[in-house]
Amino acid sequence: MTKENILGIDVSVTSYEDLKEAINEDIEKKKKSFIVAINPEKVLKARKNQELKDLLNKASYAIPDGVGIIYASKIKKGQIKSRITGIDCMDMLCGLASDKGYKVFLYGAKKEVIEKAKIKLEEKYKQIKIVGTIDGYEKDEEKIVKQINESKADIIFVALGSPKQENWIMEHMEKLNVSIFQGVGGSFDVISGNIKRAPLWMQKAGLEWLYRLIKEPKRIFRQLKLVKFLFLIIFSKKEI
Ligand code: UDP
Repeated sequence: MTKENILGIDVSVTSYEDLKEAINEDIEKKKKSFIVAINPEKVLKARKNQELKDLLNKASYAIPDGVGIIYASKIKKGQIKSRITGIDCMDMLCGLASDKGYKVFLYGAKKEVIEKAKIKLEEKYKQIKIVGTIDGYEKDEEKIVKQINESKADIIFVALGSPKQENWIMEHMEKLNVSIFQGVGGSFDVISGNIKRAPLWMQKAGLEWLYRLIKEPKRIFRQLKLVKFLFLIIFSKKEI
């Protein structure tokens, strides 16, 4: 799968369909893959943190999660045309798991959130096999590894926030008999209904950031980083 380099971070050029096909192939071949969602905030963090940069660049699939990534690709005359959000990718993989009988594990978020998320996913995907859950505040490392391996999961969604979840995945990939690892941030909170996502028209218009800003005004400081990101893109000479 081709990638475009955006301020030092490689981002996959793909569609949901191609991604689904590639991941299905990985599971069939029992190949280990690691999916990260890239947004401008992560790119800026990684510019100042070589370790994070290396880690993000090791991902098998780096999906263009933020609308800022699409603008950046457009400005640099790249090929990334539409977002693949972390939560939509997770949703697509749950559909795939349900169709093909792949086993799914949920790790992260608060205990009540993860339990509710499991119920919601089972309501939506009648055939899905969720073979285990562990909340993100469990401290017993050995217990976590043992439970995941005993579950024989094919796909694990890790919701510990970023970059904690990416670090956790890199540290545990070899020890776990799981094929697909995806870091999903606050997705369990959204799936459980704890946090509401923007209406579809806002998502489609690339205005999800505005909805989140209205809901949580203190996000303004996080979102101002998008302006800095676009400045850096415009003034960096390198073409993709
Ligand atoms: N979280 C966790 N364990 C921790 C820290 C965070 O399980 O030690 C969970 C937290 O409960 C929340 C998610 O990680 O469900 C973080 O979501 P956030 O929206 O902050 O992630 P982002 O995508 O912004 O990195």
